[in-house]
Amino acid sequence: MKKVLVLGAGQLARMMQLAGTPLNLDVKALDVLSNKVVNPISPEYIYGDLKAGILNADVITAEFEHVAHDILAECEQSGKLFPTSAAIKIGGDRRLEKALLESCNTANAKHYFVHSKADFDKAISHLSLPIIFKSALEGYDGKGQWRLKIAADAEAIWQEMADFMKASTTTVKQGIVAEQMVPFDREVSLVGVRRVNGDVAVYPLTENHHTDGMLSVSVANPVNTVLQEQAVSVFKAIADKLNYVGVLAIEFFQVGNQLLVNEIAPRVHNSGHWTQQGADTCQFENHLRAICDLPLGSTALIRPTAMVNIIGEDTVPNEVFAVPSASVHWYNKGKRVGRKMGHINVSGDNELQLAQRLQSLADILCNKAFPDLSGFAKDYLAKQK
Ligand code: AMP
Repeated sequence: MKKVLVLGAGQLARMMQLAGTPLNLDVKALDVLSNKVVNPISPEYIYGDLKAGILNADVITAEFEHVAHDILAECEQSGKLFPTSAAIKIGGDRRLEKALLESCNTANAKHYFVHSKADFDKAISHLSLPIIFKSALEGYDGKGQWRLKIAADAEAIWQEMADFMKASTTTVKQGIVAEQMVPFDREVSLVGVRRVNGDVAVYPLTENHHTDGMLSVSVANPVNTVLQEQAVSVFKAIADKLNYVGVLAIEFFQVGNQLLVNEIAPRVHNSGHWTQQGADTCQFENHLRAICDLPLGSTALIRPTAMVNIIGEDTVPNEVFAVPSASVHWYNKGKRVGRKMGHINVSGDNELQLAQRLQSLADILCNKAFPDLSGFAKDYLAKQK
């Protein structure tokens, strides 16, 4: 039985454990705040601290990119960490991420780094409105972002960002990335996996819908080959450059037939949760296979599948269970406004059937916990008819 330690004890570690159990993998997780190694499904069971966790593990991985650098260094020293700390850090710092994209010649939004008022003025003069400003560190789910739509707001936004940078307590210097707003047609992501020997397997592109910067709905359909090929070549360029091992997600803006990279996530990803029901092998199992150096599983789409996030609610009406193929996944987290509490996967034999089932879910579920679902279900159903 191989022993895996996951840095971070949230829902992604939990789903890794659920996927690893049939393979006889022993998955434990480090709660980085308390420095306790826990069972990610039953966190009341504690197995020691980071040092003990490293000693006991055969393989170490991460479920989030904002892991403290000293923890990453200690894990890397053991020779057990996959992917590398460099890859994890890139996901946690938008400046490193942009540098990686440039070094791989990957199309992405025009951008400037901002650390001073002079940088800010330069960014504004070289970009056109609207501009989005993103904190370089600790940004996720649309947090730490400012949107400048009219020139008159520039001074106020600069003040907010300057205060934000000043208040930062990060060990690495906080900064801002100013980015051209892209008038995209859709947001899509590619989740793929790479093994130590360089083998790669990728899932079909997933269409993503966000509400206030947070993912609300993802749908996986049979793919558009032109876009899929573009996305796969970006994936290979980045994964090879990083000598990457494990699941890597790449989020894109689609503009016409071109994909621009928005960001990368060096881990299993929310937009890949549909693979639990919709793919031959789910992303969690494939991540474990890759880091344990096992052959990768097929990433083929079984049938059109969607995932809807449950945000800020800890119950759903029982009628949800009566929608054919609907599958509810709770994360066992304390209820909090705006928090990802779980998700529902739903599939159809074809896109029309999936659209009808999404509409059934939208009719049952409240808008608050499922922002975007009813609008999305209605549009998606209309497209199929
Ligand atoms: P991020 O945290 O970078 O993924 O940003 C959160 C969301 O903000 C994205 O999913 C997009 O919906 C939107 N967004 C971020 N950057 C841009 C951009 N350059 N152009 C247009 N929309 C953006």
